[in-house]
Amino acid sequence: MTLEEIRKKFLTYFEEKKHSIVPSAPMVVKNDPTLMFINAGMVPFKEFFLGNAVAKNKRVTDTQKCLRVSGKHNDLDEVGVDTYHHTMFEMLGNWSFGDYFKEEAIEWSWKLLTEVYGISKENLYVTIFEGDEKDGVPRDTESYDFWKKWIAEDRILEANKDDNFWEMGEMGPCGPCAEIHVDIRSDEEKAKVDGKTLVNQDHPQVIEVWNLVFIQFNRKADGSLEKLPETHIDTGMGLERLAMVLQGKQSNYDIDLFQTLIGQVVKQSGFKYGENETTDIALRVIADHIRAIAFSISDGQLPSNTGAGYVIRRILRRAVRYGYQTLKMDEPFMAPLSKVLVQEMGGAFPELVDNQTLIENVIREEELSFFKTLAQGIKRIEVIIEEQKKVGNDTISGEQVFELYDTFGFPFDLTALMAREANLKLDEKGFNKSLQAQKDRSRSATSVKTDDWTEILKDEKEEFIGYDRLETEVKITRYRKV
Ligand code: ATP
Ligand code: MG
Ligand code: MG
Ligand code: MG
Repeated sequence: MTLEEIRKKFLTYFEEKKHSIVPSAPMVVKNDPTLMFINAGMVPFKEFFLGNAVAKNKRVTDTQKCLRVSGKHNDLDEVGVDTYHHTMFEMLGNWSFGDYFKEEAIEWSWKLLTEVYGISKENLYVTIFEGDEKDGVPRDTESYDFWKKWIAEDRILEANKDDNFWEMGEMGPCGPCAEIHVDIRSDEEKAKVDGKTLVNQDHPQVIEVWNLVFIQFNRKADGSLEKLPETHIDTGMGLERLAMVLQGKQSNYDIDLFQTLIGQVVKQSGFKYGENETTDIALRVIADHIRAIAFSISDGQLPSNTGAGYVIRRILRRAVRYGYQTLKMDEPFMAPLSKVLVQEMGGAFPELVDNQTLIENVIREEELSFFKTLAQGIKRIEVIIEEQKKVGNDTISGEQVFELYDTFGFPFDLTALMAREANLKLDEKGFNKSLQAQKDRSRSATSVKTDDWTEILKDEKEEFIGYDRLETEVKITRYRKV
């Protein structure tokens, strides 16, 4: 089954169960000061859960474009290194706004996976919420009882609040989750840890694919929980992970879409995939990042020096650095890759086709501009690394990180990545101090228009704090200080 067919099967399955299929909301969030990018399928529906709006259709299904590169959900460091975290990914979901609840959600998820997609029951595990005494929330026995109708009881594991209790923020709707995991280990690998039931915290190939959230409580300002008058279902399944399972692969990057994208980079760079871990990581990162960048552009967010635009620029520069340094490409490769992406995904996401020329041109401009300083920047960081090693220092100073940022356009996280590759650390505090000093200088220089610079500094600072709802308070406080 191709990625496209898998996506379609999901949507039609729930359509048959009276859900209306809705298109993905744009990944770029324009009207919410607390969030730059959609990072989960529930974001576009949050007003329904908060009770601020009433859903026209009580049952909805969709695939939502998500990006997880900042704040509470930041998977950037995992991307390309592990086999199942992307920057941008599709989250398939089925939704009940005050309609069906646990029993149906559990039964339907089970039947979809085992009967429609044909995943063997022997390879599935589920987790339920173990309960939390402090909160006065009991173990989710209700879920347990529904699950055991379908799956052997020794395959139902209990999990704690971190993984299996979902909250929108410090206040508001929340509830226990159940997560479905698929064991994709080879028989040989299974034999090694025989007799142990595992979930992906314990083994990367017992992978979490689907999170079912049962929204049944409201957390009040004093921290206590009350029952919601109406209960809701919010589910999210990673399409790429599901495709890996169904296509019998061990890595998301081996599914049809990513093989096509990687194939294009292999063609341009001459490096084969699967021969060397270092070049493989570069190939995976590039195949991953092109999606985040192209979809952001088509959803209205161009790369820039501030806010969400800087997030996209950082992702792009990260990909370009891998292409240039690791895969020895010194001509634009992301722009031609975007064409292949549009061919592959334009059917399901027509916005890509509508904006194809814009996507390609913007990416090419960005690449050309970074290529101008990249080689020199790499030379400079190599000298810095050598100097530090010579004197037995394990940290790159804040001033040096700032120099790379200011002179060569190296975003902080790119320098951090390169430092990590050389087993060095960065002085982040020192870097922020240099940024602040720069800002103060540009403020006191009366002849200089301050706007641009101030903007950069302001957003850069926020960048390191993160953009999640929970952090709004911090962000706003700092914002005012600027
Ligand atoms: P993980 O523990 O693997 O990081 P998660 O618990 O953070 O996943 P959820 O917030 O529960 O993920 O999101 C629902 C589903 O979305 C996951 O079960 C997974 O299939 C998928 N998913 C989450 N993060 C990513 C990602 N970075 N790349 C691809 N798929 C993802
Ligand atoms: Mg995660
Ligand atoms: Mg998880
Ligand atoms: Mg989860």
